[in-house]
Amino acid sequence: MTQDSSNDLKSWFVQEKRSFPWRDAPSPYAVWISEIMLQQTRASVVVGYFMRWMKLFPSIEAVAKAPVEELIKAWEGLGYYSRVRNIQKAAIFLQEKGSELPASLQELLELPGIGPYTAGAIVSFAFHQKAAAVDGNVARVISRYYGLEGEVKRSLLEEKTSLFLPEEEPWVVMEALIELGATLCQKTPKCKECPLQSSCEAHLQEKTEFIPAKKKKQDSIYLHKQVFIIMHEEEVLIEKKKEGQVLGGLMEFPSFPYSNEQEFIPSHFSFLMEWVEDLPQEKQSFTKYQVDLSSSIFRALEKKDIDGYKWIKIDSLTSLTFSSGHKRILQRLLEVNII
Ligand code: SF4
Repeated sequence: MTQDSSNDLKSWFVQEKRSFPWRDAPSPYAVWISEIMLQQTRASVVVGYFMRWMKLFPSIEAVAKAPVEELIKAWEGLGYYSRVRNIQKAAIFLQEKGSELPASLQELLELPGIGPYTAGAIVSFAFHQKAAAVDGNVARVISRYYGLEGEVKRSLLEEKTSLFLPEEEPWVVMEALIELGATLCQKTPKCKECPLQSSCEAHLQEKTEFIPAKKKKQDSIYLHKQVFIIMHEEEVLIEKKKEGQVLGGLMEFPSFPYSNEQEFIPSHFSFLMEWVEDLPQEKQSFTKYQVDLSSSIFRALEKKDIDGYKWIKIDSLTSLTFSSGHKRILQRLLEVNII
């Protein structure tokens, strides 16, 4: 049954597959970068980012040597900036060893930022070996195809995925499973168009609504922050979030837990400043945090250096990479025409 099904899926994929640059020329490096970019973003959106990245950083060596700010700038909009830092850490590690990306799952898993899915994808698509690459799409297809109800362990999904892969050209069927999950076997599946409909357990038992079992949503943490846009002549005070912190490496205006005190000014800004204007409230969300950002513009009457912050020329601000909420605040700031 599985052999016929994987043949059917392969024929469907050969006919229907979407063309993407990382598919058309699947070098190990291209597969690695594309798979990291695809982790939270739709393939159609990733295409532009991927093309730009490959032009700017065409090799592992180029990534290893690039200033991290340039990598973060090229990643801007994809979010999850720890991923881009891990790409560089892995590239530096490989350069120091004088090697390319390895073809073994074990060795790939030792590189920063490469987990079981990405390692499986590189081994399968770039090195054409039999390897299970189980992402959310594959987990959905495999759970439904085998009728796996309730919470299913990753090891079982990998085992079932491997069962599905033929000995001949297993990488084509692996990619077909991903494509099926991305196009037909979505949350609401299009079973009538699916090449697996005659043997898919969830479809035959009318259980597609319940398989895979819904995951419990992680509770969000709500925060409210006061953002200080402090200007002095042609400069604005900016904080670069420390590496290792949430949003590490990104730029933000100084911010502190919101206070109802009207005259609230953080104590370590020990210089005189006057309030100029409030900006509309913005929202920011990252990982489990939902943050309301109330921002105000202030004019500093004197300029002092403060640990952890930098005075940056106003006309350089747009070339920096801000976190998403603070990027919107920067746009508001530019719109009010105060600078
Ligand atoms: S038959 Fe339906 S549920 Fe089963 S794999 Fe195809 S699209 Fe998914």
